[in-house]
Order: sequence, then structure tokens, then C-alpha cells
Amino acid sequence: MSNQEDLLKTLIGHAKEYGFVFQSSEIYDGLSATYDYGPYGVELKNNIRRYWWEAMTKLNENIVGIDSAIFMHPTVWKASGHVDAFNDPLIDNKDSKKRYRADVLLEDHMAKYADKITKEIEKAKKKFGDDFDETQFRATNPNVKRSQDRIDAVEGRMKAVLEANDLEGVRQLIVDEEIKCPVSGTANWTEVRQFNLMFATELGSVSGESSTIYLRPETAQGIFVNFLNVQKSARMKLPFGIAQTGKAFRNEIVARQFIFRMREFEQMEMQFFIKPGTELEWYNTWKEKRMAWHRALGLPLENYRFHDHIKLAHYANAACDIEFKFPMGFKELEGIHSRTDFDLKQHEEFSGKKLRYFDTETNESYVPYVVETSIGLDRMFLAVLSGAYEEEKLENGEERVVLRIPAPLAPVKIAVLPLIKKDGLPEKARAIIDTLKLSHNCQYDDKDSIGKRYRRQDAIGTPYCITVDHDSLTDDKVTIRDRDTMQQERVAISELGSIVSGKVDMRGLLRKL
Ligand code: ATP
Repeated sequence: MSNQEDLLKTLIGHAKEYGFVFQSSEIYDGLSATYDYGPYGVELKNNIRRYWWEAMTKLNENIVGIDSAIFMHPTVWKASGHVDAFNDPLIDNKDSKKRYRADVLLEDHMAKYADKITKEIEKAKKKFGDDFDETQFRATNPNVKRSQDRIDAVEGRMKAVLEANDLEGVRQLIVDEEIKCPVSGTANWTEVRQFNLMFATELGSVSGESSTIYLRPETAQGIFVNFLNVQKSARMKLPFGIAQTGKAFRNEIVARQFIFRMREFEQMEMQFFIKPGTELEWYNTWKEKRMAWHRALGLPLENYRFHDHIKLAHYANAACDIEFKFPMGFKELEGIHSRTDFDLKQHEEFSGKKLRYFDTETNESYVPYVVETSIGLDRMFLAVLSGAYEEEKLENGEERVVLRIPAPLAPVKIAVLPLIKKDGLPEKARAIIDTLKLSHNCQYDDKDSIGKRYRRQDAIGTPYCITVDHDSLTDDKVTIRDRDTMQQERVAISELGSIVSGKVDMRGLLRKL
């Protein structure tokens, strides 16, 4: 593969061809930044959601779930700050007429310097071999130092202008850095404007009685407004968490990059309510717990890193992202935020209702603090897909495309393949499926040669293929083939259930946490 863009294109093509992700309304030429999940995509997505849900609610006795409505009272979004402050700074290039997020232009600009540093380091590593000392090299190499100074300078100014909401300052920084539009190649920029990301619609059918409501831009507020309902009905004691998964909607300015940035997407969020003063301890705990959840999947560890936020959101006193190495480079996959008591206090003020916790140990009543973990299900899907995709050269000179999806997340767990379509082999294959299908998602396939059928299963990431041949009818044994090693083994049909479960059971993943 020649470059990262090619990899993204290849993934998009693969996802479409093999029934993972389709462009929404494709026969009408699509709707931008909106996607549909196909037969294998929906299975993978459900499995990722289940892995998250069970890790939260099954493994933590103090975390419970809810499922709140997408529509909420409009005042919720006044209180949360979204009506006034859920904006992205946008800037247009006058020549190409293309629109950009000003902060993203600056981040991409810094990423170019970071790339230069990585290249210098890789070059030096090759040159010096085992003697290479990266820390010393970073501190002394003039090229690296120059690039790092540039990053620090841009980062410092960017933080200052964004925090001061100084839009002219943001524009000036773009001009000073000589950032050009990738399409027109010019620096002919408009002023920077704020753009609210919420979708609005009308509630009520009687004219004059309607009011503007919003499609929720995050699931978190449904948790905050239900804080007391949950605490009382489930008899929760601090510290405790509320988890929720569901759709969120944002009118993103620049919505490219496939399912990484969509206008309709799904979030998996958990708000952890704690005693004020303990937030940094819990923030660090949840950083570690969430990273462990990612690492348990077994995708390459170097694909993950933490990134502290440059500009803290209006509600946060500490925040970081878990970034993943997507085909477009390292980008945010999940956010972990210490949100203080901002949200509950705001809802107290706007609703006039008390949202307090009575602490029986100290006999005090207070507004809890919150640490949030928030991950996009679709981004996680893209992370799994891109981390799992491999074009592998085989010893016999052939090539195969294999999705090394962590087995418990794989859409299909077992494909059962009769060697030929007669002599009772299909019936035998179906009988095997009948014994397995209550526990595992199975697929029957009798079309084409066995080799072709193996390739089809590799391409959707099926961990096991089972081939039924004539001997199977008398010895009750089958050949089981492992997706990753391509090793084949003859095993008793009665053993299949336990062999397969050992690898594909979600409990295996959860046990690692
Ligand atoms: P970004 O900076 O990429 O716009 P964000 O910081 O606004 O993201 P959050 O508000 O923290 O994102 O949302 C939490 C998570 O929801 C993100 O980490 C991401 O995984 C997911 N997410 C946010 N916006 C989108 C989107 N437009 N499409 C898909 N997933 C998204």
C-alpha cells in the first residue's frame, strides 16, 4: 500500500464489498457523512457495544445503565452550554470555496512538524542502530529542535486564542503560519466564525404552538438529568456510574474520513459520580481502566496513546483523549474528562430542582463531581477494522486479505463448509450448525472451491472454518481451520463447541480486565 490515504480507500472498498458499511442513500448518490451498517457490520458493531456494556455494567457492581430519549427538553441544552458554546471555529478559503475547521487546520499544521521529527528519528535509528539514544537525539539534533520549537510556539498561541475566544487571533495565527488551503494552494482566507453544531427541529404539529428542540449532540445529558432517578431507584451510593449507549447528532463542518466523523453517530458514555476532591484520583483510575479495555483486544499496542487536551472544554478541569493510529494518523478515539460539578449545578439552576447526594457517612448533602468516559462506537468500529485489516503474502506466493478481528468481536464465528454439495455432506454440515448456533453466529457456505470459501471467510474475519468431508459421515470428525495461522486440524465434532468457545467467548476478553 503506497500511503495512508490509499489504506483508507482500500478499507472503504472492503467494507462495502463485504457488507460492513454502505454509504447512506447510495442509490441517490448518498448523503454526506451518513453511513449504514450492512449484515457483517451490524454484527461487529453489536459485539463492540456489548463488550463495552458488559465491561461497564457487569464488571462494576457500582455502574448501572439507562437508555434515555434522543429528544430532550430544550432547556437542557441551554443549561449544558450547548446552545451558546457548542461551536466550532470555521474558516473558508475564498479561492477553493472549501470550508475548514480553523483548529483542525492548525492541528494538521503541527502534525506536519511532528511527522518531520518522526522521520528524523527513524533515519537516525537506522544509522546508529543499537547505540541510538532517542531522548538525547531529541534534545540535541538541530532539525528536531527546530520542529519541536515550531510545534510549541503554535500550540501555545493556539491555546491562548482559543481560550480567549479570540477569532481574529485564530485567523492571524493561520496567516502567520502561512497555512494554505490544500485544494487551491492559496492563503486567501475569510474571517473565522463560530458555527453551532446542533441540529434543530420543531416539536408539535399545531402552528404557533411548536417549539424548537434539538437532536442530542451527546448522550451524557440524558444521564445527568436522570441522576436522582437512577440514584434513588437503584439505591446507588457514591461513587457510582451510569452508562448509556445511543445515537448522537452533530452538524459537522468538515465531514470526511468515512465513519470517523459522521453527522449521525453512536456514543458509549459513562458518567461516574464521585465525592468532590476525589476527581483526579478517579480521573487517573478511569484513564487506566479504559486503556486496559482497549489493550485487551490484542490489536498492536503501538496503535494507542494518550493525548492531553490543549484547550479544556468549559466544563472540564482535566481531560485527555485515547488516540488510535487510524489510516489518517493518530486521532481521538475516546475522551476521558473530569467534568467537576458543572453539569449537575447547571441543571439545578435551570430546573430549580435540587440534584444533591446525601452522604450518610458525613451527614452532608452536596452536588457530586463527575468523571466521564466517552467513546464513539463508529470510531471504535473503524479502529477495529483498520487495526485488523491485513494483506498477507503467503508462502506459496499467493496473497490473502484477512481481517484479524479480535475473535469475540468477529461478526461470524464459525463457517461450516461441506466439501461438496451432495452425498449427505450438506445435511451433516447443517446438523453441526444446529448444535452450535445457540451459542455462536454460524454461517453455512457450499458455493465455489474450499479455497475460495476460506478466502471469503478470511475477508470478513471469521475465526474458524469447519470442513465436512466424506469421512465425517463415519468418523464424526471434521477439519477445523484457524483464520490467523491457517493451521488445519482434524477434531471430533463433539469437541467443536469447547474449542470454538475457548477463543470466541466474550468472557475471555472480560476476564482480562
Ligand atoms: P472531535 O474533536 O474529533 O470533533 P470531540 O472532542 O468533539 O471530537 P467528544 O465530544 O469528546 O468529541 O465526543 C466523544 C466521542 O464521540 C469522541 O471521542 C468520538 O469517538 C465520538 N465522536 C464525536 N464526534 C463524532 C462524529 N462526528 N462522528 C463519529 N464519532 C464522533
